Amino acid sequence: MLEVRDLTARYGASQALFGVDLTVAEGQAVALMGRNGMGKTTTVKAICRIIPSQGTLTLEGKDLHRLPSFRVARLGVGLVPEGRRCFRDLTVRENLLATARPGDWTLQSVTALFPRLGERAGQRAASLSGGEQQMLAIGRALMTNPRLLILDEATEGLAPIIRQEIWAAIARLRQETGMAILLIDKSIRELAQVSDRAVIVERGQTVWQGAMSDLTPEITERFVGV
Ligand code: ATP
Repeated sequence: MLEVRDLTARYGASQALFGVDLTVAEGQAVALMGRNGMGKTTTVKAICRIIPSQGTLTLEGKDLHRLPSFRVARLGVGLVPEGRRCFRDLTVRENLLATARPGDWTLQSVTALFPRLGERAGQRAASLSGGEQQMLAIGRALMTNPRLLILDEATEGLAPIIRQEIWAAIARLRQETGMAILLIDKSIRELAQVSDRAVIVERGQTVWQGAMSDLTPEITERFVGV
């Protein structure tokens, strides 16, 4: 469904991506891994056309390089960006409805996945805890009814109990909808539990990809290890 080949990108004069390869097939969950600053967020921004890039970038055969970011979103790429952006002065309900597009994901199904969002539907987003804001960010992406959901550090900086809730929701998404997902996260153990495949980037280049079951501790230590 998503095919990225030999992707390069730069921030002004400084090149950040030097050849990223990755594919996400229908219904697959793929973990995008690598140490800090290796190009994971940049790759996701390029896929969503938030920053310019070169190389092959297609979704179901459509060349994303020809499209502005709002069209990529409309084609079915739902991004949960790093830093859980939402409209702080709007209520939870208003935040969710703001991104709604026709499909199975509605206010009802999103609040069934995250009951806390249902309980807080009338509250301003600014009054939510960090974990609830993260749930809202995921809910907003789901409301666009994406075919591919991209989660950039969805559990970053959250308390363990909230992280568990978010991982459980991701696992449910996998089991119940078979939605394609591209995930970035620091927690390798949780990534391994929900992902079919892994792609590892180092200094802006894909250095390893394969089935999660083939990701040995040696490879993890070499490219991702702490
Ligand atoms: P992290 O987990 O720390 O977010 P990452 O793998 O997502 O790491 P990127 O954020 O994609 O890494 O960064 C890749 C490279 O691009 C880094 O060298 C970083 O310093 C650089 N970079 C990122 N954003 C910018 C920017 N806005 N302007 C200039 N350079 C940037």
